[in-house]
Amino acid sequence: MDSYDLIVIGAGPGGYVSAIRAAQLGLSVACIEKDATLGGTCLNVGCIPSKALLESSEKYAQAADKKGMGAHGIAIGKLELDLGKMLGRKDKIVKQLTSGVAMLFRKNNITSLRGVGRFTGKREADKHVIEVVGGDGAVAQSIAGTNVLIATGSKVASIPGVEFDIGEGGASRVGTSTEALAWPEVPKHLVVIGAGVIGLELGSVWGRLGAKVTVLEYMPRLLPTMETDVGDAALKLFKRQGLGFHFGVRVTGAVAVGDGAKVTYQDGDVEKVIECDRVLVAVGRKPMTDGLGLAAIGIEVDRRGCVGVDEQFRTSVEGVWAIGDVIPGPMLAHLAEHEGICAVETMAGQPGHVNYEAIPNVIYTHPEIASLGKTTAELDEAGVAYRVGKFPLMANGRAKALGETDGFVKIVAHAETDRILGASIIGARAGDLIAELAVAVEFSASAEDIGRSIHAHPTMAESVKEAALDALGRVINF
Ligand code: FAD
Ligand code: NAD
Repeated sequence: MDSYDLIVIGAGPGGYVSAIRAAQLGLSVACIEKDATLGGTCLNVGCIPSKALLESSEKYAQAADKKGMGAHGIAIGKLELDLGKMLGRKDKIVKQLTSGVAMLFRKNNITSLRGVGRFTGKREADKHVIEVVGGDGAVAQSIAGTNVLIATGSKVASIPGVEFDIGEGGASRVGTSTEALAWPEVPKHLVVIGAGVIGLELGSVWGRLGAKVTVLEYMPRLLPTMETDVGDAALKLFKRQGLGFHFGVRVTGAVAVGDGAKVTYQDGDVEKVIECDRVLVAVGRKPMTDGLGLAAIGIEVDRRGCVGVDEQFRTSVEGVWAIGDVIPGPMLAHLAEHEGICAVETMAGQPGHVNYEAIPNVIYTHPEIASLGKTTAELDEAGVAYRVGKFPLMANGRAKALGETDGFVKIVAHAETDRILGASIIGARAGDLIAELAVAVEFSASAEDIGRSIHAHPTMAESVKEAALDALGRVINF
């Protein structure tokens, strides 16, 4: 039986990055992936294809927005959409990146095995024996590992009453994000269930391309875990873009009917029905442990199906580790990567640590919405005194030149120590701007540190500096 220092199960961003880092540290590594291509949810049907379509659809929306372009002195004639080409571009990007992971595996001498990885509960000279199960259900091979890293990610969650009709060739009328990344025509009316990240991103894509979009959300307001002023500003901007929202409603059913679909929801005491031609179900994701054989080694999952871990991502079984979407916490690709790096560095005898206060969270709508650390509501609840600095993009010279003046930067700093505790940015390229604040939090920087760091002029990043100065009562340009 082949044996390895580390067997990684799952080749998503958590698994493949862990495999590479482990190989760099001199460990012998095998990575088992059940799907035909590497890269997991993120590269195949998540982060990357959604961002490709967000970029293409935003270009289309800019070209279609005669008013916005007109202000630049640009008049556009007849506008045409070649959706097939747009989808083809997305597929090409996915292919380049997933085959790039295969190339990185070869470069790092990582053994890449295709099949479902499954614990057997057996031991071979103190190593865990893992079976690799092929598409036909037969065990293709067994391998042994001193360490096994569970990086099996997540799958789509649903709600009672929703009947997916996932068919070939884009036939699905009631589908998940995976189908919504490949619909062959622009829906006339798309109903999105859930105003979370996927609902907002993919609702934006199809809305920009011409669909009427109605979003049904259970919670009473948009983005309830973010700063209230961020959620309020975002709602105003999305409504301006034509997205329709119903908050505080509970979807009770979604079924395909003929060429379209019917969605039923409860609005207070009233049951309402919407007829539409596509439904995107985006009510969250749940950990993926199907077929993994956790019971064989005595690992139990929690109420949500997550595998429990300690701070270095050890499970309750020696030599078995877990990271990414399959463990409790935010489901983010960059977090899965960092957790994986922490786990394998710990395996190799190095200190490993993930700072959960410094994880940027970005929604790639237009404008983008980015946040990290604590919100003011969380600090109020914890009784921590703080100062807030806020700077509107309207007052930033580069934002004016770009025609991207919607939004603001908000920084929350400790009232006495001035240490940055949290930040939110709504605005163009907020996802890039938040990186500075992630570094600041990681290094325990203060608002004074950011305010005294020289930011190039004219850049959007100057708004970050100005927000920090505002927290100190010294804002210059507002
Ligand atoms: P995954 O990426 O899910 O990878 C797990 C892999 O394990 C899969 O390839 C699966 O096939 C494989 N697997 C499962 N069980 C087995 C088994 N028993 N044997 C072998 N293989 C197995 N996050 C962001 O940070 N930014 C974004 O912009 C973003 N956009 C997203 C857009 C969409 C539409 C979706 C759905 C998600 C998005 N996410 C985004 C979330 C992100 O994709 C996940 O957080 C991330 O992929 C988690 O990484 P992971 O390695 O834990 O799991
Ligand atoms: P989500 O948790 O972000 O949002 C789900 C939404 O559905 C919530 O607002 C919830 O209140 C609502 N909901 C639940 N049941 C409902 C019902 N019966 N009726 C109406 N609304 C209901 O989940 P998601 O958008 O599906 O995304 C899944 C995961 O993927 C997230 O954890 C996210 O972190 C990750 N993701 C990240 C990014 C990014 O980082 N840019 C992009 C896409 C996905």
